[in-house]
Amino acid sequence: MTASVCQTASAAETEALGAGLAEQLRPGDVVLVSGDVGAGKTTLIRGACRALGVSGPITSPTFTLGHRYAGGRVPVSHLDLYRLEGLEGEDPALLDDYVDSGSVAFVEWPAAAAPRLDVRRTVRVSISHAGGDTRTIEAPIASACK
Ligand code: ADP
Ligand code: MG
Repeated sequence: MTASVCQTASAAETEALGAGLAEQLRPGDVVLVSGDVGAGKTTLIRGACRALGVSGPITSPTFTLGHRYAGGRVPVSHLDLYRLEGLEGEDPALLDDYVDSGSVAFVEWPAAAAPRLDVRRTVRVSISHAGGDTRTIEAPIASACK
C-alpha cells in the first residue's frame, strides 16, 4: 500500500478516514499510529474500530497497556504505549495478550516497542496538527483523500 497524505477538518472526517483504512486491514495487522497529544490518534482508531464492527466506547487505554475489543468482524486490540520507555527490563510477553496473528492491533505511541511490533505486517499512520481543527494525516489508504 502506498501512503496518501490527507487533510481533515473535523474529528468526524478523521473517523471516516479511519474507516477507510479499516477496509484494508486483515487479522495480524499492526497499525502504528504516531502523532502528538490531541492530534487525533484515538479518533482515527475509533473510526477504524467502528468500521470493523466494534461497538461500545473506544478510548485511549490509560491505566493499562491496552484494551481488547470483541464483537467486531475481527478481534481488535488498542494499545497506548505512551508510558513505556522501552522494552528493556520488561516481560518479553508484555504485548502477547494484544498482538497476535488473529487480531488487528492499533498502537498509539508505538516508538518504545517498535522492534517488537515489526514482526507482522505493519501499517504506519502519522497525524499532525495543522492549525485549528485541521489535521494532516499520512496513511496507506486506497481511496484518494476526500
Ligand atoms: P490523541 O489520541 O492523538 O491524543 P484524540 O483523538 O484523543 O487525540 O483527540 C483529538 C481531539 O481533537 C478530539 O477532542 C477531537 O474532537 C479534536 N479534533 C478536532 N479536529 C480534529 C480532526 N480534524 N481530527 C481529529 N480530531 C480532531
Ligand atoms: Mg489517544
